[in-house]
Amino acid sequence: MKILLLGKNGQVGWELQRSLAPLGELIALDRQTVDGLCGDLADLSALRDTIARLKPDVIVNAAAYNAVDKAESEPELAMQVNALAVKMMAEQALQMDAWLIHYSTDYVFDGQGNMPWRETDIAAPLNHYGESKLAGEQAIQASGCKHLIFRTSWVFAERGQNFAKTMLRLAKDREELSVIADQIGAPTGADLIADITALALQKSLTRPELAGLYHLAASGEVSWHGYACHVLGFAKANGEELAVQTISPINAVAYPSPARRPLNSRLNTQKLRDNFSLHLPDWQSGVTRMLREVLNK
Ligand code: NDP
Repeated sequence: MKILLLGKNGQVGWELQRSLAPLGELIALDRQTVDGLCGDLADLSALRDTIARLKPDVIVNAAAYNAVDKAESEPELAMQVNALAVKMMAEQALQMDAWLIHYSTDYVFDGQGNMPWRETDIAAPLNHYGESKLAGEQAIQASGCKHLIFRTSWVFAERGQNFAKTMLRLAKDREELSVIADQIGAPTGADLIADITALALQKSLTRPELAGLYHLAASGEVSWHGYACHVLGFAKANGEELAVQTISPINAVAYPSPARRPLNSRLNTQKLRDNFSLHLPDWQSGVTRMLREVLNK
């Protein structure tokens, strides 16, 4: 089986290089062109040629335009990468009878209420990033190709940039941090996402009726403030020298940003757990493991 992985150097892409390797021949690309193969989602014609040349059995798309605030001023580029390129991949996957594996986000929801979102709930994004990700999902579903779409949330990894690492950096210099306490979600490890991808893909290859849209997040829930307290509490307890003394909870309205974000990012993962007989560990275990690696503890 030949697997084409796009976005190989992102948080999830990096972990997929590990988890997909035992499933088949893995060709992993980033946006550079190497040996005439191009994985740039902003260059549709080069990407189309690359997929046509490789004829993969599975396309795994971990590449995305993820700059949520910047997308407010570059909506066309966000749409190009997160929707138009994805539509083209889906059309090629259909033609080749290949699987397309893709990732989306809790930001497709408007964040109302406090119930975990189900796959069947109506999406209503609050920002351009969310709109572009939703358009990507819809293009895959409309294409008729065999697909797995995993909506996930608050991704972290030992490699790459994420909230936990930002908190560790800021806490070294600042005595007080103010962190949003009214947005609730589940920090989800890129390693968990990659492992679930490999397991779900392997099962779907023999049971194509499992194709579809799934919510994939670690168990439990927390605010960004609670998440920051967990990260910095662990770091302090393990001997990190931090300047921070106070971590103050604030509401999102007190921290204006170009893009609005949902308050309720809880994802209901029942469908994924039932269809694939999987267990999703709590968010703390993944975050603690990442912190041990980052802090070398
Ligand atoms: P990262 O930002 O870590 O990785 C994204 C990757 O996409 C980077 O390697 C980046 O390359 C690449 N990329 C960006 N633009 C292009 C392009 N034009 N062509 C090719 N590659 C490009 O993201 P994650 O691994 O965290 O995200 C994986 C998936 O999960 C995405 O679909 C994302 O939308 C989704 N998701 C992420 C969340 C998060 O908190 N990060 C939350 C919810 C969902 P480069 O480094 O060169 O820019």
